[in-house]
Amino acid sequence: MNNIESINYSNFFNNSVIASQILFDSSFKFSSLTEYRKLITEKLSISSGNLVVPEQVHSNTVRWINKNGSYQNTDGIITDNNNLILSLQTADCVPIFIFDQLNNIKALVHSGWRGTKNKIINNAINLMIDRQSQPSNIFVLLGASIQKCCYEVGEELIDYFDDDCIYQYNNKIYLSLQEQIRVDLLKLDIPLENIHVDHECTFMNNKLSSYRRDKGESGKMISLLGHY
Ligand SMILES: [Zn+2]
Repeated sequence: MNNIESINYSNFFNNSVIASQILFDSSFKFSSLTEYRKLITEKLSISSGNLVVPEQVHSNTVRWINKNGSYQNTDGIITDNNNLILSLQTADCVPIFIFDQLNNIKALVHSGWRGTKNKIINNAINLMIDRQSQPSNIFVLLGASIQKCCYEVGEELIDYFDDDCIYQYNNKIYLSLQEQIRVDLLKLDIPLENIHVDHECTFMNNKLSSYRRDKGESGKMISLLGHY
């Protein structure tokens, strides 16, 4: 019925919530993300009135959401409202899906190097803990994003990250955002077995959106988390 391709992560959450990363449809003439999001929601038969859209700015700001709509200067959104569907857009940055089934708390977090450096993941997890989540009930999935094989960074970034998240070879420096986020989650007492990392590299897989690879030509993948 629809020709939408996506990576479905719902299994990781026991299918008690739908978690997916929608691949960018390059046949769509890219005029605006708003229009693109509308197309996606129509194809998935989601009411766009249920969507929560963060206007991402690589900040570490996470907001508790009770109402649909757009939120400026926001890179993480959390809700316990079952009518809302959280969304996020990425092309290389890490989309982080978080779910506490016991308390029915869902979160989507956008974490590139700035967000990871500024510990947006801590802000998200702490906000959930403020709302009675226990770390042992929090499950976290890191979606497809640029991996250390392709994520070369300048030496000015080295000091911001743990040593074992930085790799050097052939006089080049590579960063693993996923490993840093995983380490940060373990420090927040999230159990190892509650964390899953998709090691699919957006830069290497041409079906995935990569800003590094395609610059302004790159589309965006839309992550969705909710009941739909
Ligand atoms: Zn790669």
